[in-house]
Amino acid sequence: MKIGFVGLGQMGSAMARNLIAAGHEVTVWNRSGAKAAPLVGLGATQAATPAQAAGGAEIVATMLADDKAVEDVVFGAGGLLAEAKCHVSMSTISIALAERLTAAHAESGGSLVSAPVFGRPAAAEAAKLFIAAAGPSEALAACAPAFEAVGQRVFTIGETPSAANLVKLSGNFMIMAAIEAMAEAMTLAEKGGVARETLLEVLTGTLFGSPVYQIYGDILAADRFRPAGFAAPLGLKDMRLVGAAAEAARVPMPLLGVVRDHLLAAIAQEGDEIDWSAIALPIRRGAGLG
Ligand code: NAP
Repeated sequence: MKIGFVGLGQMGSAMARNLIAAGHEVTVWNRSGAKAAPLVGLGATQAATPAQAAGGAEIVATMLADDKAVEDVVFGAGGLLAEAKCHVSMSTISIALAERLTAAHAESGGSLVSAPVFGRPAAAEAAKLFIAAAGPSEALAACAPAFEAVGQRVFTIGETPSAANLVKLSGNFMIMAAIEAMAEAMTLAEKGGVARETLLEVLTGTLFGSPVYQIYGDILAADRFRPAGFAAPLGLKDMRLVGAAAEAARVPMPLLGVVRDHLLAAIAQEGDEIDWSAIALPIRRGAGLG
């Protein structure tokens, strides 16, 4: 099928590559145009604007950093709004923006599917993403071949696009909370003379044998925070979006404040180019470990 793909960062580049590999006719656009070159080498067409990437495509997917980036490519100069038949928004964005996009696409005669993903860049490369999708049922059906090419499983959340964004934000909050718990426990174990790897082996081999503890446990045990698979400022953005959703719904989330402050400390101490799991560093320093 004809697919437009906008946003060729760590996640988007891998996803676009898998769409091409699955035989789809892909037109790509990225703000920094040079990132399109490897995909053009694989058979993609490079568009001059997001609107051009959407024009003539059955669906146009966006995989961009944040709300501002999505607003720019949808509503800005050369934006895709007027051209998009079905906009598949796969970035992690706010509930408020998902609602605004839903209304804007309906008004311009198109539709919005919210389809944020779970999985780090390695999962994107292996076409093993988990997709939480919500939108009108015909639009979801139109997206199915593209989802199959980039993911291992699609969870259909319902007809209201923003519901999928709520699932994604809730999930990222839980990942952060799991990293926080592991980092605190590893610090306690290490200070008491138990190696982080030993603690991880016992816990993932007993009660905590789930991907989030395995994947992030390995990163924490090895201090593998660079290069960032998911950059800490993007994690901070997600915790801000969780906070906005919680405030709007009048839901106290005290743990959110803890992980947000550790993210801020990690960024302040280590800079922007670090993985969000580096919240382990300020936690360790707080215990007097280097
Ligand atoms: P990334 O590597 O930082 O890529 C960000 C993309 O957004 C780039 O294509 C960048 O363009 C573009 N962009 C930023 N600001 C823009 C603007 N104002 N106008 C147009 N384009 C703009 O990020 P990523 O890791 O691929 O993440 C993309 C999305 O997926 C984020 O919403 C993130 O929260 C979500 N996500 C990430 C992961 C992960 O583990 N990495 C997992 C699940 C979900 P340039 O190339 O020109 O900078």
